[in-house]
Amino acid sequence: MSLSRRAVLTLAGNRLVSRFVTRYGMRLGASRFVAGETLGQAIETVKSLNRDGLLVTLDHLGESVTTREEALEATQSAIDIFDAIAESGVDSNVSVKLTQLGLDIDYEFCLENMERIALKAKESENFVRIDMEDSPRVKATIDIFKTLLKKVGKEHIGLVIQSYLYRSESDVKDLGELGVNLRIVKGAYKEPKEVAYPDKGDVDENYKRLVAMHLKNGCYTAVATHDEKIIEWTKSFVKENHIPKDLYEFQMLYGVRGGLQRQLAEEGYKVRVYTPYGKDWYPYFTRRIAERPANALFILKNLVRD
Ligand code: FAD
Repeated sequence: MSLSRRAVLTLAGNRLVSRFVTRYGMRLGASRFVAGETLGQAIETVKSLNRDGLLVTLDHLGESVTTREEALEATQSAIDIFDAIAESGVDSNVSVKLTQLGLDIDYEFCLENMERIALKAKESENFVRIDMEDSPRVKATIDIFKTLLKKVGKEHIGLVIQSYLYRSESDVKDLGELGVNLRIVKGAYKEPKEVAYPDKGDVDENYKRLVAMHLKNGCYTAVATHDEKIIEWTKSFVKENHIPKDLYEFQMLYGVRGGLQRQLAEEGYKVRVYTPYGKDWYPYFTRRIAERPANALFILKNLVRD
């Protein structure tokens, strides 16, 4: 992980910084990455993305909750998204984080909450994907995913794997045997070199290895990156290996490389935009700044503009 990225993530953990940004953040530029604070606003954004030929996955922001009450509220919010999607007729599925559903409080409680969401996804003939969080939570996340996979089937639940982790190659092999739908990402958290590749070159090489493995296993793969080199490599790989278009999609974040998202959709590729909304946008927002400190300049410009 680069020094600047580590510095941004450390600074973001500072209480004073967090208070300041939370207070002024939407004005400072969080709205570039977050589709509003309410579900109604998010659905309007989905409509507009759908009109541009883009699919969506909606994420009600929030993570690391500390009380059962908050976790139950987050569970209900995820369930409500499926109803709002059905009522509005938009083309979207849902992404969730297990720490938002009580993973740090109690494993069984979190499993129950996630099960309610997964059953709702099935009942709605839709799909929920469990995001992957930092390395101490990977094992529990995979365990909960596997338990629910048996209950709702791979058409209704999917998982995320991070290419910066050494363990991911063996996880993709294992999950490939179950034929599951995976989103491959590079990984967004501050991880020690004991568990994650410190060099970006290795993370990128592993990314391609994991995508190739999963596609060759005949499993649905969401290639979630803004990295043009990897996107171009994927296009060549699927062509050379005759991978059908219904076995993969590209995914990018709302507010990042919008032009590239639309260009890929125009070329006929399936593109899904990860679209977060809600009041608890601070940790999500700071990870986006850490990925590209140039985004901080954009915030500073907004500061002086006023
Ligand atoms: P990078 O090599 O970091 O970036 C490549 C290029 O993309 C950069 O040069 C820049 O031009 C552009 N870019 C990248 N990030 C930004 C940004 N924030 N702002 C502006 N330009 C940018 N991580 C997890 O750990 N768990 C998850 O569950 C998870 N889900 C994700 C879902 C989706 C749909 C996406 C796209 C990412 C997700 N991530 C997740 C984040 C991911 O791990 C990376 O941190 C993030 O995607 C940046 O890496 P990159 O692949 O785009 O490549």
